[in-house]
Amino acid sequence: MDYAILLKFGEITLKGANRAYFENTLLRQVRYRLKPYGKWNVYKSQSTICVEPEDDGCDMEGAYGACKRTFGVISLCRAYEAEKDMEAVKKRIAELAPALLSDARTFKVEARRADKSFPYTSPEISSEAGGVILDVCKNVKVDVHDPDVTVRIEIRDEKAFISGAREKGAGGMPVTTNGKALLLLSGGIDSPVAGHMICRRGVKLEVIHFESFPYTSERALEKVKDLARILARYNGAVCFHTVSVTEIQEALIKNCDEDYFTILLRRFMMRISEAVARERECAALVTGESVGQVASQTIQALSVTNGTVSIPVFRPCIGLDKEEIIQRAREIDTFETSVLPFEDCCTVFTPRHPKTKPTLENVLKEEERVNVEALVNDALSTRRQEWIRESVYE
Ligand code: ATP
Ligand code: MG
Repeated sequence: MDYAILLKFGEITLKGANRAYFENTLLRQVRYRLKPYGKWNVYKSQSTICVEPEDDGCDMEGAYGACKRTFGVISLCRAYEAEKDMEAVKKRIAELAPALLSDARTFKVEARRADKSFPYTSPEISSEAGGVILDVCKNVKVDVHDPDVTVRIEIRDEKAFISGAREKGAGGMPVTTNGKALLLLSGGIDSPVAGHMICRRGVKLEVIHFESFPYTSERALEKVKDLARILARYNGAVCFHTVSVTEIQEALIKNCDEDYFTILLRRFMMRISEAVARERECAALVTGESVGQVASQTIQALSVTNGTVSIPVFRPCIGLDKEEIIQRAREIDTFETSVLPFEDCCTVFTPRHPKTKPTLENVLKEEERVNVEALVNDALSTRRQEWIRESVYE
């Protein structure tokens, strides 16, 4: 075996009595994520998850990437194994040092003994290993305060591990430890980012998308599924619900004041989403709204939209600027897909002068002109459901 991957978990270590539950969930998540990349031995040892390949057929880099995207992992590193014996550790350090310190001018060694029966203390291990590194790499110096690279040696129950630079993990909490929520996913930039932020807090997402066929196309729907496929990298398989709002939009056009189309449609979306959320046991809704971004996102409009539902609505982008949302969209890899030019049901019938400060009173008057309950039920009867997986699983 060339190396193992060591994962440190973050916040979940704070969870007192629930700790075992959080840790076991993370273990399960990691095992599931690794499936496409070969056979692995995944186990917990002290406060670390160790991922070891079982044979040569394992895709180490693929697995490393999957671990890096797993919520609940605060940092990770590649760790090279050695026998739990001081001479063996020194020999392995001599082999590894040139690669671990390739660009470094200064280093320090940090040793930890989880196994206190190991006959050397941590400072002794550090000093022996540091001596070997200085012998092998002629151009590096020790700097204990601000080293370019920290070489870590961990003497664990079964073996010793030697590792170099530790990378930041995805952070957050293991998915499912905070229940389920339903993400309203459009084809835009904001909602995938909002979903990612909530998923990162340990919430498993299901997705609902509203289409307006034939005004919106099959390709527009495919684009949204592509976004869900990217979210599946973080969330695991996504249960994807498609609901048609064509009949609702046609009823609104026929009966209501054009200036209210958007806000009325948003209220229908919320009602339908709440019904689906309840059926699917999702405890909250998630949207990509941000204060003031468009007419339907003024405080007045948000308040009128929100008034239709009685479960919590999470809007994690609410205080972000568009530029900040775009930055996040790039980081999570949804941006390129989001900007593909396909129509969305919200853009099919856009009022020329949308109401930016709708009052509930006026909105309710408009709603009296259509049969809200029947339209919601008809829309719900168009719901289709499918599972969307990350492409490596397909
Ligand atoms: P986004 O970039 O996410 O599309 P937006 O800035 O375009 O957001 P709106 O069109 O007002 O804003 O939509 C606000 C939110 O409503 C979206 O972030 C999304 O959560 C939800 N939403 C809008 N259109 C749809 C749709 N067709 N299907 C599902 N959810 C939608
Ligand atoms: Mg949009």
